[in-house]
Amino acid sequence: MTNLKHKRLELPDLPYKYDALEPVISKAIMTLHHTRHHLAYVTGVNAAMDKLEKARAGEGLEIDYKAVMRDFSFHMSGHKLHSIFWKNLRKSSKDNAPTGSLLEKINEQFGSFTAFQTEFAGAGKSVEGSGWVALIQDGDDLHIIQIQNHNLLSVLETKTLLVLDVWEHAYYLDYQNDRGKYVDAFWNIINWDDVAARLA
Ligand code: MN
Repeated sequence: MTNLKHKRLELPDLPYKYDALEPVISKAIMTLHHTRHHLAYVTGVNAAMDKLEKARAGEGLEIDYKAVMRDFSFHMSGHKLHSIFWKNLRKSSKDNAPTGSLLEKINEQFGSFTAFQTEFAGAGKSVEGSGWVALIQDGDDLHIIQIQNHNLLSVLETKTLLVLDVWEHAYYLDYQNDRGKYVDAFWNIINWDDVAARLA
């Protein structure tokens, strides 16, 4: 039964050093966020696959399908979102903004970059509990959505361009309970080249 194997996930390396995003996000947060939190999602989805494979192999393991399916969705989505998030970020700069065709698309869809920022920040600051705010592409249209946890309120069959993690683990060490200050500082570290490359 060894050919019943799905590929196990691995924690991807960050595309920069842990202190690269300071002062917006500290080395301490980045280290914990990557090596503990993201790793936990990788481990979690692999554990769900282990359970499913044992059940498929008829090893007599009775599994709670509802719980395993929940774990698979939660951890796989957490892994996918963090993998995009790391690439969406770069060293802080004051004049950081989208340019070229990405800026044109944002202007066409949201009216202006300022209007886009207002909607994205408003969505991010108001996520209930733990979650994300995301810019997604559906055909020719761009939309901003909230995601609760990693996998609720999300929209299937769309492309994810830009995400911001608003779980407390993403900012609490630096900003305590001031999620708004963290969301406002995020504009300085967006890697707009990465976002533009994702825009199909
Ligand atoms: Mn996170």
